[in-house]
Amino acid sequence: MLKNKKYQFWFCTGSQDLYGDECLANVAEHSRKIVEALNASGNLPFEVVWKPTLITNELIRKTFNEANIDENCAGVITWMHTFSPAKSWILGLQEYRKPLLHLHTQFNREIPYDTIDMDFMNENQAAHGDREYGHIFSRLGMERKVIMGYWADEAVQKRIGSWMRTAIGVIESSHIRVMRIADNMRNVAVTEGDKVEAQIKFGWEVDAYPVNEIAEAVACVSQADIDTLVEEYYSKYDILLEGRDEKEFRQHVAVQAGIEIGFERFLEEKNYQAIVTHFGDLGSLKQLPGLAIQRLMEKGYGFGGEGDWKTAAMVRLMKIMTEGMEDAKGTSFMEDYTYNLVPGKEGILQAHMLEVCPSIADGRIGIKEQPLSMGDREDPARLVFTAKEGPGVATSLIDLGDRFRLIINNVNCKKTEKPMPKLPVATAFWTPEPNLQTGAEAWILAGGAHHTAFSYDLTAEQMGDWAAYMGIEAVYIDNDTTIRQFKNELMWNSLAYRK
Ligand code: MN
Repeated sequence: MLKNKKYQFWFCTGSQDLYGDECLANVAEHSRKIVEALNASGNLPFEVVWKPTLITNELIRKTFNEANIDENCAGVITWMHTFSPAKSWILGLQEYRKPLLHLHTQFNREIPYDTIDMDFMNENQAAHGDREYGHIFSRLGMERKVIMGYWADEAVQKRIGSWMRTAIGVIESSHIRVMRIADNMRNVAVTEGDKVEAQIKFGWEVDAYPVNEIAEAVACVSQADIDTLVEEYYSKYDILLEGRDEKEFRQHVAVQAGIEIGFERFLEEKNYQAIVTHFGDLGSLKQLPGLAIQRLMEKGYGFGGEGDWKTAAMVRLMKIMTEGMEDAKGTSFMEDYTYNLVPGKEGILQAHMLEVCPSIADGRIGIKEQPLSMGDREDPARLVFTAKEGPGVATSLIDLGDRFRLIINNVNCKKTEKPMPKLPVATAFWTPEPNLQTGAEAWILAGGAHHTAFSYDLTAEQMGDWAAYMGIEAVYIDNDTTIRQFKNELMWNSLAYRK
């Protein structure tokens, strides 16, 4: 169900007519060549569309307004090839509402030492023009991304590609709709929040439905549909009976198949892309949705446990941002559970009661059934696996009462030293940057939740840029973090974001 539009990004080059037609012809040719090279590079996930050189207030304003209206345009990339007087851009920028990348580049890589004259200098002066342009952005107080470097370099192209995914997150954020079929868990604070403010800031729609309405959709699923899906489960996953009765095991798996089909139909019918559940509010559902929710997350739905709609929306957002990525390693809802404090082997064991997305699995996936220590239903079927190794990003969006804060922590996923045969849930194990002690201290000082939206396929830069476009506070916990500096940053931010 996760399919983004065929988004495009417009490439707009700035100049002016001070240096004559020949200069403008060169400007247009150069920017065309850059666009062609970017599209041919294979480093950009979306197409770049060349636009005629912008040299007058009228054309600039018209172009940005067309970008606003064009449904396929997810952002504009701008570059001042020559000196483009920044006052010409004021009205257009003020009326522009989509993400903007200021690509600070230059057509020639090297100074042409033997031939350079003043004509060349006047024509190729992004170092001048882009500063003038940047100034007006800063003066207007507008959010934009600046990427500096030579346009043909792979590293620069990859940064542009990475920003494109952030831009898609910005554009698509306002289409995220979260279905709550249960309220927040009693007495829990960090998963609460202001849903109206979330819609104002992020565009998210967060609505409640009685659990028995979705349970009714589950009850309506035909036995034939359930049987087909159970067959798929049995062919795809290892069945880990562990002494349980084979027939009863299959019946419990079939309950999850019914939940997967019924939930997906209900979500599709009502146009929601994320969902929250609560183990204590299951209505007529026979099991806590486990395997079913895991499969829905893998299909691209957002999820948060115990009514955590903020994390559900973040998981959906991060699924959108990583959609179609080659060699993606996965994105999931996650919860911090327990520590390993052995020196040199420190880390946090990540899991949930059941609901971890199999997109992050490393190797074979099995199905297990076990009683839950909480709740009062049948022993639910769940997918079990361990997660891949490698770097990732864990995020927590919290509501501080007067503002949202996004906490972004770089983490390194590892294998646990030994298997955990008695643990009947999917797990990951990671060490936060800069290390467990400072990482956990900073996370707690920032007020981060026990729930996270986690991805191997996004970077702290992408998530922080998304937060910046949304106009919310973001704090990073990474190898540059020290507690003394971090505490100051939180204090300064509390003043900067004061309403
Ligand atoms: Mn939880």
